[in-house]
Amino acid sequence: MSQDNNNTKSKNAIRSREYRIKNAEKVKLYEDRRNERRRNDPIERSKKALIDKRWSENNPERKRNNNRIWKLNNPDKCRSYGIKYRSSHERVYNENQRMLSQLRRKSVINDNRDFSIIDIRAIDNYYSRICGICGLPIEFKFEVDHIIPLSRNGTHSLDNLQLTHPICNRTKHSRLQKDMKLDIVILREMLVGTDIS
Ligand SMILES: [Zn+2]
Repeated sequence: MSQDNNNTKSKNAIRSREYRIKNAEKVKLYEDRRNERRRNDPIERSKKALIDKRWSENNPERKRNNNRIWKLNNPDKCRSYGIKYRSSHERVYNENQRMLSQLRRKSVINDNRDFSIIDIRAIDNYYSRICGICGLPIEFKFEVDHIIPLSRNGTHSLDNLQLTHPICNRTKHSRLQKDMKLDIVILREMLVGTDIS
């Protein structure tokens, strides 16, 4: 049975690839429109972000690999994105830099020998900018959250860190995410209602 499913799946994948090649222009038009829609609509954007987040969670290795390959293939884009981001988010950028240096200081003070310098960009959701708590995009400020709080013996290490909205981080405080289900619903409603920040 599952063999059959796999066969059907790969057949479908081949068919869809063939279709995309044959109808490249049509597909491009469709995707351009869809991307335009996503750019302009925060709800569409957060829907897509959720899909991406789920995929990344299920395929962490592939996600990291894709990022690496994209960065290698697009060094100019990478640089110009960085410059564009810095100039359009100057205040936020400076704040992030300050936080980054704080984090470095903190980790040095904590004397985590395996982690004397934490590069915030190595945190899994840095590039996707999806809040690790509520799952919505982070457009402005972020904070670094310990997934398992330090007060519950969580470690100050990359696999225990995630970027979150400041408000989500503060609402979570020293709890585990599974203990804040209702809060997450409220946070999401609040953040979609406002200007997702
Ligand atoms: Zn959030």
